[in-house]
Amino acid sequence: MASTKRIYSFGGGKAEGNKDMKDLLGGKGAGVAEMSNIGLLVPPGFTITTEVCTAFYKNGKRLPKDVLPGVEAALRRVESLAGKSFGDPDNPLLVSVRSGARVSMPGMMDTVLNLGLDDATVEGLARRSQNERFAWDSYRRFCAMFGDVVLGMKPERKQDRDPFEVILEKKKHAAGVKLDTELPVSALKELVVELKAEVRRRKGIDFPDDPMQQLVAAIEAVFRSWDNDRAIAYRRMNGIPAEWGTAVTVQAMVFGNMGEDSGTGVAFTRNPATGANELYGEFLVNAQGEDVVAGIRTPLKISDLAARFPGVARQLDDARAKLERHYRDMQDIEFTIERGRLYLLQTRSGKRTGLAAVRIAVEMAEAKLIGRDEALLRVDPAALNHLLRPIFDDEAKKKAQEEGRLLAKGLPAGPGAATGRIVFFAGDAEAWKSRGEQVILARHETSPEDIRGMAAAQGFLTAFGGMTSHAALVARQMGKVAIVGCEALSFDYDARTMTVQTPLGARLFSEGDWISIDGTAGDVIEGQVGTRPSEVVQVLVEKTRAPQDAPVYQQFAKLLGWADKARRLKIRANADQPDQAEVAIAFGAQGIGLTRTEHMFFGEGKIGPMREMIVAEDEAERRAALAKILPLQREDFAGILRVMGPRPVTIRTLDPPLHEFLRHDPEGIAELARATGKSEEHVRARIDELHEANPMLGHRGCRLAISYPEITEMQARAIFEAACDVSAEGVDVQPEIMIPLVATKREIDHQVKLVRRVAAAVFAERGRKVKYSVGTMIEVPRGALRADAIAESAEFFSFGTNDLTQTTYGISRDDVATLLATYLEHEILNRDPFVTLDRLGVGELMRIAVERGRKTRPNIKLGICGEHGGDPDSIRFFEKVGLDYVSASPFRVPVARLAAAQAAIAGKSKG
Ligand code: PEP
Ligand code: MG
Repeated sequence: MASTKRIYSFGGGKAEGNKDMKDLLGGKGAGVAEMSNIGLLVPPGFTITTEVCTAFYKNGKRLPKDVLPGVEAALRRVESLAGKSFGDPDNPLLVSVRSGARVSMPGMMDTVLNLGLDDATVEGLARRSQNERFAWDSYRRFCAMFGDVVLGMKPERKQDRDPFEVILEKKKHAAGVKLDTELPVSALKELVVELKAEVRRRKGIDFPDDPMQQLVAAIEAVFRSWDNDRAIAYRRMNGIPAEWGTAVTVQAMVFGNMGEDSGTGVAFTRNPATGANELYGEFLVNAQGEDVVAGIRTPLKISDLAARFPGVARQLDDARAKLERHYRDMQDIEFTIERGRLYLLQTRSGKRTGLAAVRIAVEMAEAKLIGRDEALLRVDPAALNHLLRPIFDDEAKKKAQEEGRLLAKGLPAGPGAATGRIVFFAGDAEAWKSRGEQVILARHETSPEDIRGMAAAQGFLTAFGGMTSHAALVARQMGKVAIVGCEALSFDYDARTMTVQTPLGARLFSEGDWISIDGTAGDVIEGQVGTRPSEVVQVLVEKTRAPQDAPVYQQFAKLLGWADKARRLKIRANADQPDQAEVAIAFGAQGIGLTRTEHMFFGEGKIGPMREMIVAEDEAERRAALAKILPLQREDFAGILRVMGPRPVTIRTLDPPLHEFLRHDPEGIAELARATGKSEEHVRARIDELHEANPMLGHRGCRLAISYPEITEMQARAIFEAACDVSAEGVDVQPEIMIPLVATKREIDHQVKLVRRVAAAVFAERGRKVKYSVGTMIEVPRGALRADAIAESAEFFSFGTNDLTQTTYGISRDDVATLLATYLEHEILNRDPFVTLDRLGVGELMRIAVERGRKTRPNIKLGICGEHGGDPDSIRFFEKVGLDYVSASPFRVPVARLAAAQAAIAGKSKG
């Protein structure tokens, strides 16, 4: 039910809201309320709820009239707490007007600071503060921000700069200074006049000078910013519903630009890149908040704070301890120092790299700040990819250095290694990516408008800004490689070039040139640099590093060890070769859920006989060709069974249509004719015969095996002979033979009978028996619906959710890309169903199959081996329907282990 209260006040050591009211107050509103409640110093203010945002849109994008009296009343309360009056020329209260959705959308929406200034109040502010410079600096900032956010003074073309920035630059140039803080008062006064004149020139309106009118316009502008292009793009990328809306927080200003004893900063209660337990962040002296986040001036490290403001550093340490104890999580805070006094303006759970997420979760659990279940829930499973990502190969990097290709250093904002071709505009990053290019987005700085291009790039490189600049925040959130604040760079956007001041002189780079960035060390390198596996991969896969020398690996292993204890689902891997099976085990796989035997046919010596088999004229010829494949296929299976030992290995019989194995070009046809001693006409005729209008719905899977039972016969023989051989070596084996694309009971009956006959024959020949089972894939709707009948013959089901999604939607999995973008844009689909399982349709068929399968065979083994097996959201569903295991590609096994643990914990808490 909608609440009727629309405005929540805070300040003076208490608040009407609290941290659990994010839906209504937004993250920011809930954060300041909670901080007020726990006794941290927060400037007073009030939050207008997200429900008012909804009402605003219903009311034709106007603030509903009945909200205004509440705003005025809340403002009176702020005035009395602050001891100042809004619009009072003698003692003016200034406020900030900030956006805040229930989840953080960094920089996507708008904010206005220093509101309440006009030509009269600025004088009062100057008198009261005895600081004329500060008053006019605040006023020119307000004019620029209000002009931008409320009046829409934006660049007209993509290569243009912000119009107010241009005026400011000119002013600095004319005054002969480099920094804003060096501008004299007279210049600041002129700036105000010039900024207002620019508004008049471009917009044909006068800059409003009634503070109440400014406030209403700013509140409306912040609500409107919920629907700007970049916010919409961000919502779409992060699955945030449009109906949520943003709250607006109006808060008394405190001033970081009051002089050398003032400043502003952002900090994390732990290092967001590495997770180290230390206060981490940066600040600017004599500046306001947006200067830090905008990355316009490169800030100082928080570790320098103690030297400059020892008292403030102590206050900040206390606040850090209090916040971590209270929130029991790493916090990301914004603060302002006004004349030596620390005010907190915002707190929220801090974004962190995967590396940091793991370390913080493990260390907080070990310090008993949180429990193990909570530690597991704290890490986004996909973030584990950060620990598995490649880094530059040391040798290759050293060589680049020796060759003079190490160009410059910047701040390491997003760890990992990336190589790509330089582009300068976000739109180009998107366009190049869609052409299959790998790109690095290089810019002065990034802004929220660049968000889509940033998603398309391998990494970003910026000239300006610190570790909390926009580019840095986005890198951490998206898990991208990034270097920011690389001051050696300068850009000419019109010429599409970048100049790098290297120790050896200036170097010019053009769009399309290759560049490499090391987001762990901060190095910018010319050209492409080879990469090598991450620490975890070095320990587990390459075995080139000892676990005791690998701190990141140790945290990773600890967390996944806890995950293994918490989860119910077993995790297997999809692997077709012994080396892949080894990787799978290293990452913790408990078996193989899918071996696609077709991949093996392309291996050494097999594709020739395979093609012979396909163009054969009769069964005898086919059998002769298959006989050549048998020993090779037996070795394939033996290799995998040997590696996997007692763990189950699901081997699927041949699945794709036969034409996929043939070459259709004249040279390929001639070659096959030569190899088989057949005429080219014969080969061509056979290819024509195999042509299908819809091969994915055609002669493939068990249908093929029913037409040519000798194929299954050969494969079954290879499996059983391999199993006997490996078991004779003293290794326990557990093969599971899986029949694809089954829709009817008779199909599975046909194949099961055949497989069992071959098994009996091989066991008799070898005088040895091995345990095995025969089951089916469920990957067409009829198979799911007839699961009760199919389970009479099948000992296990493995859901092939790739095909099941394809056949349920009737959308070709190979062609979905052509319509997906449109479908996502129109919100006909929220997500790609081939990535995240469609619970309502495909999931419903799975539920039916599980229920009917179990009815016939209560102990039937149930798994899934489609790509969804490595998708955390889909795994939650697989836990819910009660599958026994999921199977994912080897590198996604760790992700699946954690996701399965989270799913089990979530299920437990629901009871
Ligand atoms: C599936 O369809 O989900 C599956 C695992 O098989 P494939 O991807 O090989 O068709
Ligand atoms: Mg399939």
